[in-house]
Amino acid sequence: MTQKATNITWHERQVDKAAREKRNQHKGVVIWLTGLSASGKSTIAVEVDKILFSLGIHTYILDGDNVRHGLNKDLGFSPDDREENIRRIGEVAKLFADSGAIVLTAFISPYKKDRQIARDLLEEGDFIEVFVDADIETCKQRDPKGLYKKAIEGTIPNFTGISAPYEVPEKPELVINTSKLNLKESADVLVKYLADNKIINK
Ligand code: ADP
Repeated sequence: MTQKATNITWHERQVDKAAREKRNQHKGVVIWLTGLSASGKSTIAVEVDKILFSLGIHTYILDGDNVRHGLNKDLGFSPDDREENIRRIGEVAKLFADSGAIVLTAFISPYKKDRQIARDLLEEGDFIEVFVDADIETCKQRDPKGLYKKAIEGTIPNFTGISAPYEVPEKPELVINTSKLNLKESADVLVKYLADNKIINK
């Protein structure tokens, strides 16, 4: 997106991301959970947030529905609005990561192009794409918010997996198959990834 305002300058700061990371004893990164509705993104984010918080780590969750109540309440589910939704979330997630936090985002983010926009905002290694993989039949059966039922009946247009596409990530940093793993196992896979890759120091 092009910038509208002119006469604005970027202010350098004296406390930078590296200083914050050093004090926090962990990196500031974005963990970008992507997958079908009901694949388990929000549930995993909440569980991992709880585990990391108990380890003294600075974390924050950006969740699809919550963001659509505020920051993005002017946006719907057309491809253009989905792109703007993800672009704004990417920018906000970047600010949180820059503040030293481990940010967990839980958005369907069905388009590769849009996930790439979010990835490109961050430094190499600071964007961890996690494909929360559950087959559509499993998601339909779970249907915790009754959305698949409505989508199949035709009352929700542009519903990912039913009437809108989901583009499977080609090279995610991590895949969590929630059709096979339970919640604890799913959360543990992610926390282990963070430890193995020295994002957290535990
Ligand atoms: P999403 O955020 O992807 O739309 P939710 O987290 O809202 O999905 O819902 C996922 C549902 O699947 C929840 O009802 C959750 O209890 C269930 N579930 C079953 N197994 C898992 C798992 N391994 N990880 C996460 N959620 C799971």
